[in-house]
Parts: sequence; structure tokens; C-alpha cells
Amino acid sequence: MSSGQLIVLTGPSGVGKGTLVRSLLARHNDLYLSTSATTRSPRRGEVDGKDYHFVTRPQFEEMINQGELLEWAEYADNYYGTPRLDLEEKINLGLKVLLEIEVVGARSIKETFADALRIFILPPSIEELENRLKGRGKDSPEAITRRLEKAKEELAASGEFNHTIVNDDFKQALQQLETLIFPI
Ligand code: 5GP
Repeated sequence: MSSGQLIVLTGPSGVGKGTLVRSLLARHNDLYLSTSATTRSPRRGEVDGKDYHFVTRPQFEEMINQGELLEWAEYADNYYGTPRLDLEEKINLGLKVLLEIEVVGARSIKETFADALRIFILPPSIEELENRLKGRGKDSPEAITRRLEKAKEELAASGEFNHTIVNDDFKQALQQLETLIFPI
């Protein structure tokens, strides 16, 4: 059976992971994005089963207890996790599967999927990250403060990853990602 590849993209909230992932998916039909489960409420425009599987805390805890999650973490007072079954099926079919997840979960992938390509996206600076979080208008001021505090902790872990990419110039960051995911 051909074997695919797991690619883990991580970095602090607001660093631009989501935009990079959307561009990658638009340019590569053979790339598949895993849909996570979360207990956070849907934001305007988010669709259940597409952006996330939106579940309650008891439902999420049941998923943990049943061993249904490859990894999970608590982030900004909510649970986030990667459903195992769908991902393993895709990898076994030979597909490249992308995870866009926070740092704690991304770290734990090293134990479960030693061969995964683990990439950390860095902001040009903490000040720039703060500007981006404020500019995207998705989160309350309290949530932004929490996410920035968390980001400082997360940045300290960047050295544990196979590769780091600074998302300063978007096009350049995208190109660097493509070179790692689709080596010539
Ligand atoms: P957001 O609430 O902005 O959608 O996501 C918050 C953070 O959770 C982001 O850093 C995102 O990458 C991360 N995240 C999304 N899905 C998962 C997941 O399945 N597992 C983990 N560990 N983090 C996730």
C-alpha cells in the first residue's frame, strides 16, 4: 500500500497559518486538510463539518476517552483536536494530509507520527502579531490579550520543529512552504 504524508503546520494564533493553508489548498488538489473538532462556538460564516466539527465539552471528552483523537489540546478555554480515523484513511490512500493546529498538539505529533513534516510559522515580531490579531477583528480585546500571552510561550517552542518559516512576506513564506511539502 502506498503511504501518504502528514504535514503539521503550527505557530501562534494570528501568524497567518489559515491564509497560508487556504492558498496551499487552492494551488494543490492533492493536498487534504483535516477537519478538527472543537468546543468553541462557530464564528460568523463558519460551517459545521467544514471549518470544524463543533461539539459540546461532554462530546469532546467522550472522543478523548474513546481514543478517537490523534492529538488534542486546550486552547483559550476551548478544546481542539484531530479526529484520527479520517486522517489515517487518507494517509493510507497515499494522500498528503495537512494539520493546522496549535503548538501543544503539534508537539505531541512527534510521538504518534515520527515521520510527520512539522513546520512552525513565525511572525516577524510580537508587535506585528498583535497588530494582525487586532486587524482581523475576529476576537474580543480579552481574547486577543489571552492569545498574545499564549503566543509568547509558543514562540519559545519553535526550535523543536523540523522547519521554521517567518511569515513576513506572504509570497515568500508560501513558496518556502511549497518547497518543503513538494520537494522537486
Ligand atoms: P481558532 O479558534 O482561531 O479557529 O483556533 C485556535 C487555535 O487552535 C489555532 O492556533 C488553530 O491552529 C488551533 N487548532 C485548530 N484545530 C486544532 C486541532 O485539531 N488540534 C490542536 N491542537 N489545535 C487546533
